Amino acid sequence: KLLDVASPKRTKEVIQKHGFTLKKSLGQNFLTDANILHKIAASANLSTDKGALEIGPGIGALTQQLAKVAGKVVAVEIDGRLLPILEETLSAYPHASVVHGDVLKLDLDKLWREHFAECSKVSVVANLPYYVTTPIIMKLLEQKLPLEYIVVMIQREVAERMSARPGGKEYGSLSIAVQYYAEPDIVAIVPPTVFIPQPNVDSAVIRLKLRETPPVQVEDEALFFEVVHACFAQRRKTISNNLLASLFDKASKPAMEAILASCGIEPQRRGETLSIAEYASLANAILAYRQ
Ligand code: SAM
Repeated sequence: KLLDVASPKRTKEVIQKHGFTLKKSLGQNFLTDANILHKIAASANLSTDKGALEIGPGIGALTQQLAKVAGKVVAVEIDGRLLPILEETLSAYPHASVVHGDVLKLDLDKLWREHFAECSKVSVVANLPYYVTTPIIMKLLEQKLPLEYIVVMIQREVAERMSARPGGKEYGSLSIAVQYYAEPDIVAIVPPTVFIPQPNVDSAVIRLKLRETPPVQVEDEALFFEVVHACFAQRRKTISNNLLASLFDKASKPAMEAILASCGIEPQRRGETLSIAEYASLANAILAYRQ
């Protein structure tokens, strides 16, 4: 049986053996720390009846750990040069398969039907390519796939924005979008030293537990997110001024003030002080006014 690739020495050996050159443009920073790999895999509560979808397996360091605990592993990799390497590092795990493609273009419903039909639950577990962290996570959340967890290594700063509570400068439309679909918690803060090559920033492992129902009742999701984006358009402006720059005009200012009053929201507040519940009641009141 082959050794795990979870060490700097083994990673360098595998890369050298195959003459592989890392591509910065694809976010190729490989994890080489066994403890962190175990921690990521363990955070998804996997078991032999469950599946794991990995995005960007690289040379398979995390894939191996997932295959040890999950009943089925599917790893989507954009870089075809990694396929022969993965064939070798995953040869001991027939229940782990690699799909060659760009996760942002892939039909994930089809992938689910083809690979995960037998699984009781499925989680996404990955050390994400940092140049596309947010689009990947938002695709997974917005598509409402039947996911249990999303456990991902991402930039620390992005993890902090995703899990931020109202009131601080990290809190914004990304916090609200993520927390509308999931409950976030940061599992670990990770220094650059555990990667080859080292990224320029600190990283964090964030775990999103997908909600079965949203935490607030929203009548029109598109309008809810439109209101959120409008209120954060210019962070130093009041919500009143931000709303007047987008969803309302001068003529409808009295109506806007009445709507804010009916929600108990002071027009002088800034977007970063409103809770998700307040955004939901504001969006619902705007919808009622429009109807
Ligand atoms: N899982 C490995 C590890 O932890 O060592 C590699 C992680 S590396 C940060 C990101 C991986 O994602 C690379 O293998 C890269 O080729 C792949 N990747 C980049 N963009 C992708 C995309 N759009 N779809 C699928 N994989 C992608």
